[in-house]
Amino acid sequence: MTKKLIVQKFGGSSVANIDRIKNVASRIASYKQHNQDVVVVVSALGDTTDELEALAFAIDPTPPDREMDMLMATGEQASSALLAMAVKKLGFDAVSLTGAQVGIRTDKVHTKAKIIKIDAKRIRKALVKNQIVIVAGFQGVASDDEITTLGRGGSDLTAVALAKALNADVCEIYTDVEGIYTTDPRIVKEARKISHITHEEMLEMAALGAQVMQARSIEVAKKYNIPLHVRSSFSKEEGTMIVQKNEKMESVAVRGITCNKSEAKVTIRNVPDKPGIAAKIFTAISKAGINVDTIVQNVSYTKHTDISFTVSKKDLEKTLKTVKGLSKQMNFGDVVADKDIARVSIIGSGMRSHCGVAAKMFQTLADSKINIEMITTSEINTSCIIDQALADKAVQILHKKFNLDQVA
Ligand code: ADP
Ligand code: ASP
Ligand code: MG
Repeated sequence: MTKKLIVQKFGGSSVANIDRIKNVASRIASYKQHNQDVVVVVSALGDTTDELEALAFAIDPTPPDREMDMLMATGEQASSALLAMAVKKLGFDAVSLTGAQVGIRTDKVHTKAKIIKIDAKRIRKALVKNQIVIVAGFQGVASDDEITTLGRGGSDLTAVALAKALNADVCEIYTDVEGIYTTDPRIVKEARKISHITHEEMLEMAALGAQVMQARSIEVAKKYNIPLHVRSSFSKEEGTMIVQKNEKMESVAVRGITCNKSEAKVTIRNVPDKPGIAAKIFTAISKAGINVDTIVQNVSYTKHTDISFTVSKKDLEKTLKTVKGLSKQMNFGDVVADKDIARVSIIGSGMRSHCGVAAKMFQTLADSKINIEMITTSEINTSCIIDQALADKAVQILHKKFNLDQVA
């Protein structure tokens, strides 16, 4: 029988305490017993990354990105070593390795680096020695030997990229829920587990806030057509298969609903309505390394207009600093920030062929007296910015309205 290579990623909640680390170790060992080569990617213990981030922000609200990476990468270094100890204790040979040690080469963009290549020699050597390889997720090393991290949720990306580099037979993502649900099961208890979802739909769900998978990891899985099995580390149940296309998939207009509370809205009042102004504003913001999401600019009748846009809450201070700097030179009006917003989105590739789906979303929100502040649409999603206090309610009523609680 040819030996199979399996890549397994265990998220923070799966290794939140010693008992859970031991549970993961036994699971890994059982795969090894079935004569498979096992490469494990592990996230930092529980909420370690959030805690490290909070420590940094307590010192400086705009901490230097290079030092953030030095700090954040420690979480995964600790968990990989602990997990290797637990596996060894069960009588199996294991070795923990950092991103740099396994040859994960990235660009130099600290805190959201992109993987350029993986030189998997060291992993292959360890596998030949019959070792279980435990890789610290979420990190790599740039050409100047600086440690980088891959953006929040980046251990998913480590796993997918390693599955590609090693040509793995299976890539499993273990988490604290049974798979991908129609919406966050913590918000809607009637949410249903989806048996199959396409890379395209999962990418949209992840990009719009379904925390369960990092969007960039799905981008890579889609690009190289890598099927992913998302499942629970606490049960043996089959989870969700993320695949390119599957005949078994239900034909529905809306596959899932997401809610993202991590954005803030910035409004610049009284901006001169003339060519080049938006370019100046958004060039300055992008030069500061800030990603902007939705942008809304009103038509002006007075030669001045308001521009609103959303950024990640984490980038809000930096954004305000940048915009206020520009505002002094260019005579804008007030710059106002609103952190109490949420993005609620409906997603489904069936939206291409069903009309009236967006209108149904707007009507459903209107019937519950929920005001829509911004709207964006793509072929396969409609997304509304609303008051954060009403976000969970919005998700619940939309989930019901689109019959996502019922088996199709
Ligand atoms: P891990 O620590 O394993 O990486 P995360 O906390 O990053 O896990 O992601 C799992 C969480 O994602 C779940 O606990 C769940 O609350 C949340 N989530 C949001 N949307 C979804 C969804 N559509 N399906 C499943 N989980 C979701
Ligand atoms: N520990 C990192 C985070 O919390 C990476 C990950 O868990 O995937 O974002
Ligand atoms: Mg995660």
